[in-house]
Amino acid sequence: MAADNRPSVPDPKGVGGDPRELNDDVAEPPGKIWFRDLDEAVIEADRCVQCASCVAACPSDSIGIDEEERRPTLVRMCTGCSRCWDFCPRSGLRYERVLGLLEDERALETPETYAASATGEAAAVGQDGGVVTALLAELIERDELDGAVVARESKDEPLRGVPFLATSREELLAAAGSSYNQTMGLGELDDLLAASELDPETAELALVGTPCMIQGATALDRYDHAPADPISLTVALLCTRSFEYDRLRSSLEGYDLDPNEIERLDISEGVLSAFDADGESVLEADVDAFDAAGLRGCDECADFVGAAADLSVGNVGTDPGTTTAIVRTENGRRAWKRASDALETTAIDRPETLERLADWNRRRAKALMPREFDPDGDVGIPYERHREAYDGTDREPEPLNPARVHQYEEWC
Ligand SMILES: Cc1cc2nc3c(=O)[nH]c(=O)nc-3n(C[C@H](O)[C@H](O)[C@H](O)COP(=O)(O)OP(=O)(O)OC[C@H]3O[C@@H](n4cnc5c(N)ncnc54)[C@H](O)[C@@H]3O)c2cc1C
Ligand code: SF4
Ligand code: SF4
Repeated sequence: MAADNRPSVPDPKGVGGDPRELNDDVAEPPGKIWFRDLDEAVIEADRCVQCASCVAACPSDSIGIDEEERRPTLVRMCTGCSRCWDFCPRSGLRYERVLGLLEDERALETPETYAASATGEAAAVGQDGGVVTALLAELIERDELDGAVVARESKDEPLRGVPFLATSREELLAAAGSSYNQTMGLGELDDLLAASELDPETAELALVGTPCMIQGATALDRYDHAPADPISLTVALLCTRSFEYDRLRSSLEGYDLDPNEIERLDISEGVLSAFDADGESVLEADVDAFDAAGLRGCDECADFVGAAADLSVGNVGTDPGTTTAIVRTENGRRAWKRASDALETTAIDRPETLERLADWNRRRAKALMPREFDPDGDVGIPYERHREAYDGTDREPEPLNPARVHQYEEWC
């Protein structure tokens, strides 16, 4: 679909012309959508949820991750293939349809919901019941998996989670707990594999992440087998909002806390708690007070439960020290059964709380999303349709940041 109703391109350096046409020595086929279109509609418009689906989807590795800002950025020539647009859950990917696809094809008739905790040392270091850590460690030791893409704390930036490919129980234990920022691990999969001792051709990995990241991985697996191929198990962390790292730090400083002194954060039942290195609580605050640190694009997300994942885990509906787990697919059930020695499992305590939060999440998305919410709609949302829905709203595309225009002059 031609992107012909785009805003005019800023020209701060006075070079003239449209940067999209600078490498246009062949006639542009209809249907070209460039990374710059995604940049304007999603990233500059402050709607990006840092899922990294665009990075994983780009066939020419033209999209990288800006190390400083942790956002997608153009790193080499864009061919206008439109795949970044097609797989972005805030623009071309109708994510609610992706959730339905899983139901059609792989899901159990009724998802199984449990309260669970690890039987071993993961219980002590996990965010809730240590279930994710225990499950993945068990599967790796049973040779069911070669590794898992998780998050571990950055060595230089306390509280920031960065993507990490764990291949042993020890590494998983060291990476246990929640990082309340996006890691963009889906976009770093190839690099993580290349830096590991695993064979990228045969490796079987689990991917752990927020539901939006799992939506991207599932859509890539469904529509395009190449980039997401090493992923053989997906685990979603239940999520109503993720945070922008620097803004989260500033919000904590607003409570007279030094973020560098905080060992662990926890968000449960609407309360954000912070703990120091001795495990002492140093803050308990309404999580709504941290709204300004949240990713604005999360408002448009109706996928609290991570419905595109094999397994989802959280804490809502269970007692402290326990993980709520939802087993959704045959693949997830197989993994759950094979790891059963490492888990103590009972019925979820308060299923109605889980359902209430999922309902609230859906209602928020429907109220704040300018486009229609249509689980039965086409999976792809054309550029023009997106513009029709978003133009004139407070989520409309923003012209490119002048600081970035040089990239487009060079690469688009
Ligand atoms: C941004 C965010 C928001 C959340 N919001 C909610 C919520 O509203 N309600 C709710 O019930 N639960 C929420 N959770 C999930 C909850 O915090 C726990 O992650 C979950 O209960 C699993 O606990 P566990 O003890 O079984 O996992 P653990 O054994 O502690 O293992 C967690 C695994 O997840 C990995 N991980 C942690 N953070 C990230 C990340 N950002 N990206 C990728 N991998 C990561 C860790 O490396 C580890 O491997 C959220 C998690 C995140 C990251
Ligand atoms: S929301 Fe995800 S796919 Fe869309 S621009 Fe941001 S990182 Fe890329
Ligand atoms: S609320 Fe949705 S969009 Fe935001 S981080 Fe969580 S899963 Fe992603």
